[in-house]
Amino acid sequence: MIEQQRVLATSIPGPRSIELQQRKMAAVSAGVGTGLPIYVTAGEGGILRDVDDNQLIDFGSGIAVTNVGNRNPRVVEAVQRQMEDFTHTCFMVTPYEEYVEVCELLAELTPGDHDKRSALLSSGAEAVENAVKIARHATGRQAVAVFEHGYHGRTNLTMGMTAKNMPYKDGFGPFAPEVYRLPMAYPYRWPTGEKNCLDEAFEAFRSTVHAQIGEERCAAVVLEPIQGEGGFIVPPEGYIARVAEYCHDHGIVFIADEVQSGFCRTGDWFAMDHEGVAPDLITTAKGIAGGMPLAAVTGRAEIMDAVHPGGLGGTYGGNPVACAAGIASIESMREDDLNARARHIEELLVPRLQTIADRTGVVGEIRGRGAMLAVELVSDLDLKTPAPELTAAINKACHERGLVTLTCGTYGNVFRFLPPLTIGDDLLMEGADILEEAFAAALA
Ligand SMILES: *Cc1c(COP(=O)(O)O)cnc(C)c1O
Repeated sequence: MIEQQRVLATSIPGPRSIELQQRKMAAVSAGVGTGLPIYVTAGEGGILRDVDDNQLIDFGSGIAVTNVGNRNPRVVEAVQRQMEDFTHTCFMVTPYEEYVEVCELLAELTPGDHDKRSALLSSGAEAVENAVKIARHATGRQAVAVFEHGYHGRTNLTMGMTAKNMPYKDGFGPFAPEVYRLPMAYPYRWPTGEKNCLDEAFEAFRSTVHAQIGEERCAAVVLEPIQGEGGFIVPPEGYIARVAEYCHDHGIVFIADEVQSGFCRTGDWFAMDHEGVAPDLITTAKGIAGGMPLAAVTGRAEIMDAVHPGGLGGTYGGNPVACAAGIASIESMREDDLNARARHIEELLVPRLQTIADRTGVVGEIRGRGAMLAVELVSDLDLKTPAPELTAAINKACHERGLVTLTCGTYGNVFRFLPPLTIGDDLLMEGADILEEAFAAALA
């Protein structure tokens, strides 16, 4: 058991972490970056402990993965139990119940009460790739429409679907063809002002699909209902419903990429629950299994079943240990009502972010939902000039004070908060105190 308490035993990173980072540089590809090189030895709830016995408050959840808390007891117990039974068979060779149970849970919990099927994979990128494969197969069409600021992964297809060049795409091309980028409904930066964003962004979406792709060539539109890496961009109320309706009218598969926003993160099971429409397909990963690698595509039975037997799969997809962790995580989300916890976190954290905004004058917008919150930092509130250096400096100041934070955004100026949903109120508020200090320190 780790006490849910911040401890600064050394400077951050401490001497042992610095030593390990040197070993890392000699053994690990430089291409694999480390945002906060403290070497972790234990984690629990909202705390990470490192090799120097520091204990840091976690506002990152391993990028929205440990929604149920690190080392969640139900997950640990389920993984241990499964390990004692068997570790792997490959579901495509000899199946097992846990895989089927995860798919049943996904059918129950994802938006819409239509008949659903799922396929399980091991990473978010793989889920997105498979969703595109399925949509192409089901429609007989090739084109895939994605959005500015979108992030969908690091495989060749999903890199091509991702918007941001550095660090995700630079020098890694050529990318897969038939991927088209559409304007994103980004209210804060909509050129003619936020109030015009809904109508104008939808018109820009519609006319771009029509003019540059052709509806009858378009297999799928892939959208994150709240964009993750792109900067926690929340489209205006009603935008997603219009996009979904347009897709429906033109036989285009509407895919919601909920790899980051799913599993209670936004205060609903899925961010799409907020929109009043169900996607045709939904991709999930990250928060699904408390840290074990599990991902899924879930969607309309007629689309999912259009693929020939053997057309989908992978050696590790839906590994039994990962499935056991997924089932236990979902049980925790239900038993501990983590949707309510996510909304509670929003209620506690947003006023603190508002105080920071009022005091510092560098916060252009506070946005997000539930425990998926961010501030976009600018050097001029009127010109909305992105402030990436300031964002990096505040992030670093948080790290030095024992708070694990992450940045994001196409312009590198979004500071995001993804605490585990089980984090205690006191740790959350201590994290907010550190944020205040870090802003003050970086602006001094
Ligand atoms: C992280 C992420 C992915 C990729 O998931 P991996 O497990 O890293 O492959 C895809 N889509 C979204 C929205 C994500 O946030």
